[in-house]
Amino acid sequence: MSFVPTFRFAPSPNGRLHLGHAYSALLNADFAERFGGRLLLRIEDIDLGRCRPAFVEGIFEDLTWLGLRWEEPVRRQSDHFALYRASAARLRERGLLYPCFCSRRMLAEAVAQRESTGRPWPRDPDGAPLYPGTCRGLGADDVARRVGAGEPHALRIDMESALAQAPRPLFYIRFDREGAQEKVAAQPARWGDAVIVRKDIPTSYHLSVVVDDALQGVSHVVRGKDLEAATDLHVLLQRLLGLPTPLYHHHGLIFDDTGDKLSKSRRSEALADLRARGVTAAEVRQRLGFRSQPTPST
Ligand code: GLU
Repeated sequence: MSFVPTFRFAPSPNGRLHLGHAYSALLNADFAERFGGRLLLRIEDIDLGRCRPAFVEGIFEDLTWLGLRWEEPVRRQSDHFALYRASAARLRERGLLYPCFCSRRMLAEAVAQRESTGRPWPRDPDGAPLYPGTCRGLGADDVARRVGAGEPHALRIDMESALAQAPRPLFYIRFDREGAQEKVAAQPARWGDAVIVRKDIPTSYHLSVVVDDALQGVSHVVRGKDLEAATDLHVLLQRLLGLPTPLYHHHGLIFDDTGDKLSKSRRSEALADLRARGVTAAEVRQRLGFRSQPTPST
């Protein structure tokens, strides 16, 4: 069987889609067409507290309205927690994950205390303070007792051990619309001991995304620049789990008229609102730099 480039659009149904999502989805479809590939849709609904069935329905409606088509079945991450749990267990067996009982508040206080001495505490690429390692050195008995007592805990990656064990080299290939490729060195250390399994769910965005991209045979990831730095961590997880690394394209983000990044949290106008105001899909496609009509599928 010949190789078919495989793309995916992978929204999280924790809000309504806006122009930024439309751009990402249309760009994936555009790439798939240019490269003679296929487009998958994946619903990244691991965050059970924030995801809503109505937002999933909204994703289907908005993408269909934009003229997009994708291959069935649509993968829903919430159906696959057992798989993510098994991947985490593999890392844990190798001593690469450790339980962390710290709350957000404890971490903020520890960091504030250290920063009160005048030295800034190092941050990860998203601006969050790097984990100070408080739980890394807990004794096995202490951990067993606290886990046994049902104390909530996340699982963090032991970055030093992970870097020592990960097969080299750590890099990925960046590609662009013209097909040009470039090698990018991954620097996962800048994420420190990142959370790989959250306290509230048996996975995290980072773990499920690498497991699913591999399982679905995704060869080309097209997503926003806000996830570019996270790719370094994804490459590390891929090497540790023996998964292939797709090629990556991180596109610029779409800004609103005031220069703010469009995001669900800032209540940017949703595609559904534009539609209700009489804006057509052709106008949205054009505004985002795509042909007004989708290519008819044959
Ligand atoms: N689910 C993520 C989001 O909605 C995108 C994940 C990805 O493309 O890797 O931001």
